[in-house]
Amino acid sequence: MTELPPKPNRDELTERASRVRVLVFDVDGVLTDGGLYYGDGGEVMKRFDVKDGHGLVMARHAGLRTAILTARSSSIVETRGRELGVSLILQGRKDKTAGFRELLTQLSVAPEECAYMGDDVNDLGPLGLAGLSACPADAAPEVRQEVHYIARNRGGHGAARELVELCLRATGQWEATVQHMKAPEALQAVKL
Ligand SMILES: [Mg+2]
Repeated sequence: MTELPPKPNRDELTERASRVRVLVFDVDGVLTDGGLYYGDGGEVMKRFDVKDGHGLVMARHAGLRTAILTARSSSIVETRGRELGVSLILQGRKDKTAGFRELLTQLSVAPEECAYMGDDVNDLGPLGLAGLSACPADAAPEVRQEVHYIARNRGGHGAARELVELCLRATGQWEATVQHMKAPEALQAVKL
């Protein structure tokens, strides 16, 4: 059995997280549990987690940008992304490495200033480029081997929010952002 590369220690993880300016998320298996529900008319439904949504909104309040990069295409993702104030939604990008490079150009950001969370082997390209790579607890083994950070939570069940918390704690912004979210005007301004 091959030996796994060591995970970064807490200090290195904090250092990587503190440099993040853009949080990039895959959709299926990260912002959702990976389930696809087909209706009679062939339409596909997905289930998003409100706590993850709240996490993305908190990232935005703390001055971080968020982005979505997915191989599939769905109007549901467009709707959910807009609700959460996601800066850039790139869908239908089968080649996720090319999609990630496109994202870097469009957002004028360096790869080391990005965190990327993905759950399967088609995410290995961007995971290898991002300054902070992360995956949900139930990601594919090949992905869990490669990333800097494995979330305690599963895809569609708080993994995305956990990445937001990691980055905001790294810069000491977590507590202030939680306080900010308690303000009635902050809550009224967002759909979760
Ligand atoms: Mg996925």
